[in-house]
Amino acid sequence: MSKKILITAGPTYEKIDPVRFIGNYSSGKMGFALAEECAKRGFEVTLISGPVSITTENKNIKRIDVESALEMFDEVKKRIESNDAFILCAAVADYRPEAKSDKKIKRTSENLTINLVPNPDIAAFVGKNINKNQVLIGFALETNDEQENALGKLERKNLDFIVLNSLRENGAGFKCDTNKITILERNGIITHFPLKPKTEVAEDIVDKLAERLEKRI
Ligand code: C5P
Repeated sequence: MSKKILITAGPTYEKIDPVRFIGNYSSGKMGFALAEECAKRGFEVTLISGPVSITTENKNIKRIDVESALEMFDEVKKRIESNDAFILCAAVADYRPEAKSDKKIKRTSENLTINLVPNPDIAAFVGKNINKNQVLIGFALETNDEQENALGKLERKNLDFIVLNSLRENGAGFKCDTNKITILERNGIITHFPLKPKTEVAEDIVDKLAERLEKRI
């Protein structure tokens, strides 16, 4: 039976009012490349994507579009038991406005304060609720103390491995078609990869995932 993989991708948009949101520059390219690579290898893929302007090519990818972190969280929660692996690639907003205005907020000469409340950590929730046969992969985009921060996340979120990309690298990160990654594994192995197109980076990541899945039931 083919393995089932759940992937999150893209940014999340957190509504302020009917025309404004808090978002980020994630393009979704890395997550979509991972979905295509997994589907190409015969995995059954569910791709939960925030707002992006790219399309999926492989007909076997089941795509679910969401907007906010809470919507993404709901769609992931429903599917924890039914998937063999999770690649959580989305750039989930850490905070959302506490209250959303139903009407467009009008400009005044006063300062405006928007109170933000923390969003749930989807990866940490999945990490708490999976069993030892399920594989969990996370991403880290860091500007400083890269490896130290990534190792902290690996532990805290109970990941099998974390894919680190640094914003300090030219050609790596949100909007590019290329990426330069380091994979840090729970067993202490650290692998550095050269700058490559995101499609090839996806092959490297899915190779590691496939290795892990083979060792599990
Ligand atoms: O803590 P940080 O946001 O840097 O962690 C990044 C990793 O955690 C990514 O894999 C990201 O998809 C995931 N994440 C999540 N839910 C959040 C924040 C991050 O799933 N609310």
